[in-house]
This record gives sequence, structure tokens and C-alpha cells, in this order.
Amino acid sequence: MVGGDGKLPLPWLESWLGEALRTQRGHALLIHGPQGIGQWQLSLTLAQAWLCEGGQGGPRPCGHCAACRMVQARSHPDLLVLIPEALQAPLGWTLADTEGEVAEAGSKKQPSKEIKVEAVRAAVAFAQTTAAREAGKVVVLHPAERMNGISANALLKTLEEPAGTARFILSCSAPEALLPTIRSRCQAFALKPPTADLAAEWLAGQGVAQPAIVLAAAGGQPLDALDWVREGLDAKLWQQLPALMQRGDAAALAGWALPRAVDALQKLCHDVACVSAGAAPRFFPAAALPAQPDVRRLLAWSRELARAARQAEHPLNAGLAIEALVTQAQRALAANAAPGPARRALSVHSAA
Ligand SMILES: [Zn+2]
Repeated sequence: MVGGDGKLPLPWLESWLGEALRTQRGHALLIHGPQGIGQWQLSLTLAQAWLCEGGQGGPRPCGHCAACRMVQARSHPDLLVLIPEALQAPLGWTLADTEGEVAEAGSKKQPSKEIKVEAVRAAVAFAQTTAAREAGKVVVLHPAERMNGISANALLKTLEEPAGTARFILSCSAPEALLPTIRSRCQAFALKPPTADLAAEWLAGQGVAQPAIVLAAAGGQPLDALDWVREGLDAKLWQQLPALMQRGDAAALAGWALPRAVDALQKLCHDVACVSAGAAPRFFPAAALPAQPDVRRLLAWSRELARAARQAEHPLNAGLAIEALVTQAQRALAANAAPGPARRALSVHSAA
């Protein structure tokens, strides 16, 4: 969303926004791309641009007309944003205007990670009523893949037979998780990550040290990189991580959220396989990585990590799970004294 200063929330949004405004046709847009590059920011800014009542010829959204100010205050009568309860705080967007979500706000239940059918039905009803102002209505769903089957079916009819002037923005990082019938009703708009230079410059502006290292750690996804830094990742630790894992140093990952630890080790496994095959690594600096020519060991490790990833959201004991992961990593990264099956006794004593 563009603030009163007229500035875009992310510098690389300008080209995306221009293209989306130029090429948009129809009433439903499916914005998709990797997580953590700015789908949410683009969706909201595009909605604001459509609703903006600023003078002709100037940039849209202008940031200071009455409509823009209402979007900034989350009070525009023609904008409805659907996000799961669990994302309201992280995205800084409270859904004061969706009845289904508010009804449960006072309860002690875990915040829902889904876009619920009640919220979608409210959005359908919203889209069918007349706009309060002149620019029509806009509904934003983020992330659209968080609709369950019932929610998606509730939306489908409206996408098939649009009523009035409502436009829909579905933002998504896993379009394959959407119903094919939903996908086929939307104009697809694919986002490519910003260039590494632009993303690193933006991260530096957010106070991140060695931004290029952290950006690579997050797979080139700058918003994810920033979140991770705020959770405690730093570039120095990232560069030391391969050696620490080779030594079996579980303290290096102490306090990490389990999904983050599994993700980091999957990236390490990927990169060790790359350098061992003579290819460039993607997430770690090449100089930080040990070689492991024993392909079977790397394969076994990647299978263990895939299993851990499936269970990472619901660990019985995250601390124990991380220790087990580090033991696996140490075994997988142990140097080979001789070709042949992995030798446990050797791996225990090998250091980086
Ligand atoms: Zn405006």
C-alpha cells in the first residue's frame, strides 16, 4: 500500500504494478510467485490503485486522495481483504469488517490458518452490492491457497458469473494448490523475484548486515530474509553453519523454530550435493561448504529431512528434534576416509 508520502512499500513493486495495471483485463487476477517477495504488498497496492481517485495523469495510487487515505486507514467501504486470522498480526492487517472472523476473536482457540467459508460468503455478498464510491469494489484474498475446498467452491460461482463491478485479486505462492476451476477463471500474473542487487540494497536499507549472504540463505526472497533476520539469523552464523553441523554442534540451532532448522538443513544438503557434483551452490557461500562425494549418504539425509519437514509443524519436543537433526547432519557430512558404507565411529570424531 502506498502511504501519504506517495512511496511504494517495496522498490521493485513499481515495475510489477505498472505491468499489472497495463495488462489487467477481466475481473479476477491471480498473482503468483515464490513466497516472501511481495505478493501481499502488490495485491494491496494494486487494489489501492484501482480505488484511487487521484487526478488524471499522476501516478496511481497517489497516496493522498480520499480513497487512498481510506485504504491506509483500512476503512475503504469498497475494499474487502480476506486473510487467515493467523496472518493478521504478521501482516499488520486486522479484519474488523469480516463477521465470521470477528465472532471468534474473543475465543482462546488457535488463530486459524485458513480463509474460512464464512469470510468467503461475506465477500461474495459484498461483491454483489453496489459500490459506495465511484471506482467499483475490490476483494483481496491472501494467500488464496489457504481457502479450503468449501471456501473455494463458495467463491467459484462469483468468479464464474461476476456481478456488478467487483474485481478480485487472488494472491498465491502455490497456484497448483488451487482448484483448477478457480485458476481457469483468473488472469494469471506471474511474479519473478527482484534482482539480487535490488533486494540486497533494500535489505541493507532495513538495517540488515551482509545482506547478500542473508538473501541467498532465504533463496533470494527478501521479505523472508528480513523475517528470518528478525527471528535471529545472522550472516556470520549462516556462513559457519556447515562447519558447525559437521562438528555436530547442536547449540548452533538452539532456539530456532523447528521448521526453520529443517529448512536450513535442507538447503545445506542441497548445496553440499551441488558442490560435490561440481555445480554452484545456491544458499551458502561455496567456500563454507564441505564436499561429500558419498551420494548415498546425501540421499539418505535428504529423505530424513523430508520426513522431518512433514512433522516440523507439530513437534513433540522441538529441542530433542533439533538435536536429532544435528546428529543426522553430522553423520551425513562426515569425511570419507575410504569408499564404502557410512562409518559411524569415524563420523563422531571427525571435525571440520
Ligand atoms: Zn489516491
